[in-house]
Amino acid sequence: MTQKQRAATAIAALENLYPQAQCSLTADTPLQLLIATRLSAQCTDARVNLVTPALFARFPTLEAFADATPEEVGEYIRSCGLYKTKAKDIVAMCQMLRDVYGGHIPDTIEELTKLPGVGRKTANLICGDVYGKPAVVADTHCIRITGRLGLTDSKDPHKVEMQLKRLLPPEKSNAFCHRVVLFGRDICTARSPQCERCPLSAVCRENNRTAKTSKTNVQ
Ligand code: SF4
Repeated sequence: MTQKQRAATAIAALENLYPQAQCSLTADTPLQLLIATRLSAQCTDARVNLVTPALFARFPTLEAFADATPEEVGEYIRSCGLYKTKAKDIVAMCQMLRDVYGGHIPDTIEELTKLPGVGRKTANLICGDVYGKPAVVADTHCIRITGRLGLTDSKDPHKVEMQLKRLLPPEKSNAFCHRVVLFGRDICTARSPQCERCPLSAVCRENNRTAKTSKTNVQ
């Protein structure tokens, strides 16, 4: 089976498993999604969703964030980890959006990654979810699972993104990444993947390798 066939099988199985593919961060506007994604670095989406309602109520607009101090923003996001850096980035990002981009959120990876604290993962999420462009969000679930499946062979997010961009049909890539997150929480977890109930076990490189090893050990 070629990698493209393996990818097509994975896409179909995950579509079947999770018909609704959407980001698990709660956000009503592109700016809120951008901020929530920045907060999600080294933090769970569930934790981010707990803090953002009060944060967005206190700072309802781009201007409110841009006029705030990092200390004021930091008070609302303490439990997200690295909150001082994140608060500084959020304020600086909103100032740049206001002063350089006229209040608009850019729609390209190149422009988005110029914003303070915005890396390729966040930029891809915005391009995909806000602008409907082909995007690959190479987060921890994506890197782990596509590696196990044999679609990618690196732990480096940029390399994984590029490898997947070559394999996934552009119109499917964004939803695939959202589904992979759900799959990574439910079945292909980091510590104890549920291979025995996994719809991808037949095409999974990791599962086949493990099965071969146990067979050899029995013989
Ligand atoms: Fe993950 Fe196991 Fe499924 Fe492979 S077979 S994708 S390792 S759960």
